Amino acid sequence: MAEIEVLNPFEIAQSQFNRAADMLGLDKGFQKVLRTPRRVLEVACPVHMDDGRIEVFQGFRVQHSLVRGPAKGGIRFHPGVTLDEVKALASWMTWKCATVNIPYGGGKGGVICNPKEMSQGEIERLTRRYTAEIAIIIGPEKDIPAPDVYTNPQVMTWLMDTYSMMVGYTALGVVTGKPLAMGGSEGRGEATGRGVFFVTQEAMKIRGMKPEGAKLAVQGFGNAGTVAARLLTEWGMKLVAASDSKGGVRTDKGMDFKALTAHKEKTGSVVGFPGSDAISSDDVLTVPCDVLVPAALENSITLKNVAKVDAKIVAEAANGPTTPAADKILFEKGTTVIPDILANAGGVTVSYFEWVQGLQSFFWDEETVNKHLERIMRKSFADVHASAQAKKADLRAGAYLVAVGRVAEAMKLRGIWP
Ligand code: NAD
Repeated sequence: MAEIEVLNPFEIAQSQFNRAADMLGLDKGFQKVLRTPRRVLEVACPVHMDDGRIEVFQGFRVQHSLVRGPAKGGIRFHPGVTLDEVKALASWMTWKCATVNIPYGGGKGGVICNPKEMSQGEIERLTRRYTAEIAIIIGPEKDIPAPDVYTNPQVMTWLMDTYSMMVGYTALGVVTGKPLAMGGSEGRGEATGRGVFFVTQEAMKIRGMKPEGAKLAVQGFGNAGTVAARLLTEWGMKLVAASDSKGGVRTDKGMDFKALTAHKEKTGSVVGFPGSDAISSDDVLTVPCDVLVPAALENSITLKNVAKVDAKIVAEAANGPTTPAADKILFEKGTTVIPDILANAGGVTVSYFEWVQGLQSFFWDEETVNKHLERIMRKSFADVHASAQAKKADLRAGAYLVAVGRVAEAMKLRGIWP
């Protein structure tokens, strides 16, 4: 009988945690605490739409853990947002911040909406109302949001401005991913993709792979995917497939990165790129390649397609792109999966730098930001790899062992209050 696969992201996040907690022999009481989000806030956001209607959007902000510092995590505007998705993403943030050893807990927010069908004015009003609703739990010392799918530096500025109006001063530290002209950090826009680039280099080194002519496929040509693709192709790799929500393109000759992004800017999609063959978004995942970068949403690589995934390395730019069942099969096939909580941690790392710069009102140049990012990503890869090797396990287990171990140690030191 075919295996029924768990696709609920929160159940997946819990099973990933359980595995590490068991391997670590973590106290059962601590396990209960770390399996449960600390705070869950659900809000209704009424918004005046351009046509005069009032629409009510449902939103969430979840704080999974505050043990190592304020909650940190993005805000997603997407029609498919669910509370379980936000809870999963919040817990992955806890483990991600601990994997790269930055002093944060984990949080995440989401609003069920389709920004592609909304005007800028509607998105602004929604952002401001959502911010006002979650203002009771966010703040520079409490919980610091950032961009995620379909939110951007402008949305972060509206969030910062709304919060600042409510507290009566300009609170740069309440959010990261802001524009440079408004307290943002050099290098933040590129940080996630740049982090993916560094850890992919490390993984290729370990597998004895060279960049020249190595084939790259990228699912999700947004912020994270595009930057990873640019840096990896500049390094010598050949982009053989790419996709976005409208579809995919493929050619074994390799696509010129600049021409492809110019095409996407002009037409709104990679689809129809001259000289390429049209494929579906999902087919990008099964194109034979050396490095596959899933950079869209959760549950891309599942039991349905994992047998056809033909890559030596999977670098998870997206959060939760591989299900646990598919993960196991990839490990058995000898594929190196660089887990999301390590691979895409460059974004939160430079968000941390932005927060530090905002709090100190002292801003660094891009070279300094990128140098610190590179140091943290390469060191984190080494920590995770060593931890995986010690247990003869995959890199995901290695990362969770590092992360859960760090959070558990902090929890032991603090104790359970009161
Ligand atoms: P984005 O909105 O900039 O890009 C998302 C891209 O995915 C878009 O190009 C969209 O067209 C594409 N997409 C959506 N559905 C798709 C599908 N079914 N098939 C193929 N492509 C599809 O978002 P982003 O910030 O690049 O985030 C992408 C992923 O990276 C998410 O999982 C996010 O949580 C994760 N992530 C982002 C950051 C960051 O700093 N931006 C940090 C860590 C992790």
